[in-house]
Amino acid sequence: MAPITKETDYLVLGGGSGGLGSARMASSKFGVKAMVVEAKRLGGTCVNVGCVPKKVTYNAAAIAETLHDAKSYGFSFQETAPFDWTTFKTKRDAYIKRLNGIYERNLGNDKVEYLHGWGRLLSRNQAEVTLDDGSKVIVNAKKILVAVGGHPNPPPKIPGAEFGIDSDGFFDIDKRPKKVAIVGAGYIAVEFAGMFNALGTETHLLIRHNTFLRNFDPMIQETVTNEYERLGVNLHKRSNATKLEKDANGKLTVTYKDDSGHESSVSDVDHLIWAIGRTPETRNIGLEEAGVKLSEKGYVVVDDYQNSSVDNIYALGDVTGQMELTPVAIAAGRKLALRLFGPAQFSTARLDYSNIPSVVFSHPEVGSICLSEPQAIEKYGKDNIKIYKTGFTAMYYAMMDPEQKGPTNYKLIVTGPDEKVVGLHIMGQGSGEMLQGFGVAVKMGATKADFDSCVAIHPTSAEELVTLK
Ligand code: NDP
Repeated sequence: MAPITKETDYLVLGGGSGGLGSARMASSKFGVKAMVVEAKRLGGTCVNVGCVPKKVTYNAAAIAETLHDAKSYGFSFQETAPFDWTTFKTKRDAYIKRLNGIYERNLGNDKVEYLHGWGRLLSRNQAEVTLDDGSKVIVNAKKILVAVGGHPNPPPKIPGAEFGIDSDGFFDIDKRPKKVAIVGAGYIAVEFAGMFNALGTETHLLIRHNTFLRNFDPMIQETVTNEYERLGVNLHKRSNATKLEKDANGKLTVTYKDDSGHESSVSDVDHLIWAIGRTPETRNIGLEEAGVKLSEKGYVVVDDYQNSSVDNIYALGDVTGQMELTPVAIAAGRKLALRLFGPAQFSTARLDYSNIPSVVFSHPEVGSICLSEPQAIEKYGKDNIKIYKTGFTAMYYAMMDPEQKGPTNYKLIVTGPDEKVVGLHIMGQGSGEMLQGFGVAVKMGATKADFDSCVAIHPTSAEELVTLK
C-alpha cells in the first residue's frame, strides 16, 4: 500500500510531557498546524510509568505511615485490613487510563493532529510514521521536535540479570511482594525502597557506596541513608550484584560482593528491580540519517535554545539529558513554541536551566535547589561561602517514643557580603510542598536577610528556614 502523505508546520515525535506541551501551545496559542506522533501511551514516562503512578503509590505509603503513627496520638484500632495492593493497583491503572484519555481529548481540543505509531526521521523536513496497522504515513514538516524521552538502563551483564525487572515493571506488580531487592542509588531506587518498606514489604537496597543520592548535598545523603536504616530498609552498602538465580517457585536469590570481595546473598526475593539510571530513546528514529549529532552517551546535543545540530530539528526533555524532570520538559517545550511561533519579541525565548528545584519522594522527602556544599565551594571557594544549618525534631513527633522520631535537617548556603542564597537543601516531612515557595525566593535572588525578614509561621517546620542563626 502506498504511503499517505501529510503536511504539517510542526511535527512532534513523542507524546510525553515536553512534546505535548510544545505542540499544544504551538497550535492553541499561535494557530500552527501541529502533529504529535506517539508509539506507546500518551503522557510519556511521567504519566504512565513515572511521576504520576509513583506519587499515587507514595501517597499510599504515606497513609500507611500515618496509620502507624496514629497510635502515638491515642488512636486505637485493630489492623484488620492490611494494604490491598491488588485493589490499589487496579484503581491506580484506571486513573492512569483516565489521564491517557484526557490527554488525547486535550490534543483534539487544541486541534493538534495525533498519530499513534512509530516515527522515524527521513530528513530535516520529513518523517515516516508506521501506524499500528503497519501502514505508513509520510509527513512533510516545516519544523520537527524530537521529544521521545528515555527508558531504564539495561541491567549489568551478570548471570541471571534478566530475572530482574526495571522501573517500568514496578508498575506491573499486582500483589504485595513479601520481599524485594532494589539495585541503584538514585531517585528511583530510593523512592521505590521507601514505598515498599512503608507498605510492609521486606526491602533490600544494594548500593555501591556508603550512601545513596550521591548527587545531592552530603547532609541529604547521610541523613536520609541513616534514616532508611532506622526505618528498617536492609541496606547492603558497598555492594555489587554478581548473580541472580530463580528457583522453581519463581523466587530469586541475588548474590553480591562487597569491596573486600566478600560474597553474600539475599534469597526468597519476589522481585529484583534494576534502578540504575536511564538511557535516551534515540535508536531507530532516524537521527543519524538526518545528521543529528548525539553525545557520547547518546543524548541529542542541543544548544541553549533546544536547537539540534540540524536546522529545523529541535530536541528537549529526557532525550537531551538536561535535568530529566517533567516540569523542565514542559517548560522547555512551551518556551520553544513561543520562540518558534510566537510574536517577534519572543525570538530569544528559552528555558533558564539554572536554579531548578527538585524533590525526591523519599522517607522523609528531600528538596534541593541550586548548589550543594561541595559545588558551592568549588564555584566560590571555601572562604567565600557561609553555611547555615539546623537539625531538629518536628513537632509531629512530640507524641512519639524516642525511637519513632525522625530527623528534619535544613541547610542554607550563602555567598558574598550580601549573603545571597546559592543552595537550599531540606529533608523532613512536607519538604516536597515547602520547596516550591522557597524555590521562587531563590530564583528571585533572595539573600539570607530576605529570608530573615519573612515572619515565621508557627508552629511549622518551615519556620526554621527563616530563623536560621
Ligand atoms: P539516577 O541517575 O538518579 O541514579 C542512578 C544511580 O544508580 C547512579 O547515580 C548510581 O549511583 C547507581 N548505579 C548506576 N549503575 C549502577 C550499577 N550498575 N549498579 C548499582 N548501582 C548503579 O537514575 P534513576 O534511574 O534513579 O532516575 C533517572 C532520572 O529520573 C533521575 O536522574 C531523575 O532526573 C528522574 N527522576 C526524578 C524523580 C523526581 O523528580 N522525584 C523520580 C524518579 C526519577 P552510585 O554511583 O552512587 O552507585
